[in-house]
Amino acid sequence: MADVEHDVVIVGSGAGGGTLAWALSRHGIRVLVLEAGPQYDPLKDYRLARDDWEQSGFPFKPGSKGRYSFAPLQPLEPRYETLRTWTRSRGKIVSDDRRQASAYHHVRGVGGSTLHFTGEAHRMHPGAMNMRTRFGVAADWPLDYAELEPYYCEAERLIGVAGPATDQVRTRSEPYPLPPHQLSYASQQLQKGCRKLGLDWGPNSLAALSAPYDGRPPCNYCANCSRGCPRLDKGSVDITFIRKALASGFCTLRPESTVTRVVAGADDRVAAVHYLDAGGHARKLGARAVVIAAGAVETPRLLLLSENKHAPDGLANDSGQVGRHFMETVFWASTGLHPEPLGSHRGHPSDSICWDFNAPDAIPGVVGGCRFSPTIGEVDLTGPANYAYRVAGGWGKAGKVALRKVFGRVLSVGAIGENLPNPGSFVDLDPEEKDAAGLPLARIHSHLAATEVRRLEFMARTCREILEAAGVGEILEEYGSYDTFSATHVFGTCRMGNDARQSVVDRYCRSHRWRNLFVVDASVFPSSGGGESPSLTIEALAIRTADHMRELMQRREL
Ligand SMILES: Cc1cc2nc3c(=O)[nH]c(=O)nc-3n(C[C@H](O)[C@H](O)[C@H](O)COP(=O)(O)OP(=O)(O)OC[C@H]3O[C@@H](n4cnc5c(N)ncnc54)[C@H](O)[C@@H]3O)c2cc1C
Ligand code: SF4
Repeated sequence: MADVEHDVVIVGSGAGGGTLAWALSRHGIRVLVLEAGPQYDPLKDYRLARDDWEQSGFPFKPGSKGRYSFAPLQPLEPRYETLRTWTRSRGKIVSDDRRQASAYHHVRGVGGSTLHFTGEAHRMHPGAMNMRTRFGVAADWPLDYAELEPYYCEAERLIGVAGPATDQVRTRSEPYPLPPHQLSYASQQLQKGCRKLGLDWGPNSLAALSAPYDGRPPCNYCANCSRGCPRLDKGSVDITFIRKALASGFCTLRPESTVTRVVAGADDRVAAVHYLDAGGHARKLGARAVVIAAGAVETPRLLLLSENKHAPDGLANDSGQVGRHFMETVFWASTGLHPEPLGSHRGHPSDSICWDFNAPDAIPGVVGGCRFSPTIGEVDLTGPANYAYRVAGGWGKAGKVALRKVFGRVLSVGAIGENLPNPGSFVDLDPEEKDAAGLPLARIHSHLAATEVRRLEFMARTCREILEAAGVGEILEEYGSYDTFSATHVFGTCRMGNDARQSVVDRYCRSHRWRNLFVVDASVFPSSGGGESPSLTIEALAIRTADHMRELMQRREL
């Protein structure tokens, strides 16, 4: 059943779906993007120019947060007391002896979770793409860094990524389109501290403009990217790939349209897509190809919801792999007070990074790497209100005096590490909880294995050492994944691979079973990398898949 107007239906408009929409429509392929969430207008919806900007985080609108549930998380052990989340004012945050579920942070909206993201634009460490062969863990990527490299370049060019000239590990065929951002004064203090420890701390590569680019102005260093960038310099997918896709004339975008089922046909093709439109009406359409790009939690849910007599265990789930191998953000942050005024509330919040432990064999005795960067944005210490009650303390005049004394003096260092898949971490359908349409919610099962906890110990220790070396006398707050599930990067639930028995999609993100079905989002990652932020890799994979789909269409194989 072919839709009269569109060649390809894309489910979701985030890093995967939005990029694919551009990469197909630029070649005259007609795409329809069905996006569950609303459209954002950065100038009207983001609040950074308002007096009360600090009172709320990202401005969620009706329908822009998905519902999901958690299975009970693992018990906590007294021997890992130093990995507990705590603040000076509140003490230990998780009083229970069980790991707490905070959130899978994401946005349903045109541009997906990149609306909320900080803009780190990373390439994978080439050595983290064959973890099975090297260390017997996770799975190998069915392609290598060299094959992905030209697509990284394309994504970086379209976005206007700003980054440093040299990278010893991630070889580049062309320089970043824009020079790196100057390090903020606070990041320079962290750099000095790292030098004392023999560590290299330098500019991060960012989807935030360091100079005017493609009609957009450069960053003004307001430090609040995760609240939504009203200046349009942050390279979220709505103002980069989707804007270009719509300008091509070959892309139709339908926000507030939630896909509820993809129908497997009697042969080797999916036949139709069912969705609820913005008015809540049930609709059905077909296309030459269907691409699911709903993110690593919703994509497996949709595939499992799409079971029928031709796909009795769920769509594309012949291997039983849909939903398995869920990987989350393994995170740590230590935050402390510096004796000198640093103005640390301004600057790009992730302007610098230390990659020294990013290689999968770089942490002594633990497989899987990590990286370190400033986390003033993540811990939300960029404005006076948070400083007043979390750092200064006190009331009235005394409170004001204390605030003046400490404002801008906080330094925060965070680490993100590899998350190796394990059988206890997966996504399935909740047997009880349902959405407004009566469909089961995605249920997240998360288990941190001993390797992850050991890696977290290293990350926590090193964050503290960096702060101390940078001059911080007193640590005020620490939080991490040991006692709290709080993930911004999620991956792995529709693994890509060459072996149809061990994976869901092939090396071009096409279903092993259904020839016109593709998955293009973070679900396809076979391993997480050692703390690299994922969006640029998702975008590079999407462009590569689009090229492949185009070839298949030209050969009339799709
Ligand atoms: C606070 C925060 C900070 C982050 N910082 C960074 C960073 O600095 N750098 C980086 O690289 N990454 C960062 N990330 C992660 C990054 O945003 C995600 O990894 C990335 O957006 C994932 O892309 P995706 O295509 O898999 O999913 P998403 O971008 O989440 O897109 C999925 C889309 O599918 C839609 N959808 C879901 N179900 C349906 C359905 N049934 N029908 C129709 N549409 C549907 C959703 O509404 C959503 O728009 C951050 C994330 C957060 C939340
Ligand atoms: S720091 Fe730069 S990229 Fe981030 S919100 Fe502010 S202006 Fe935008």
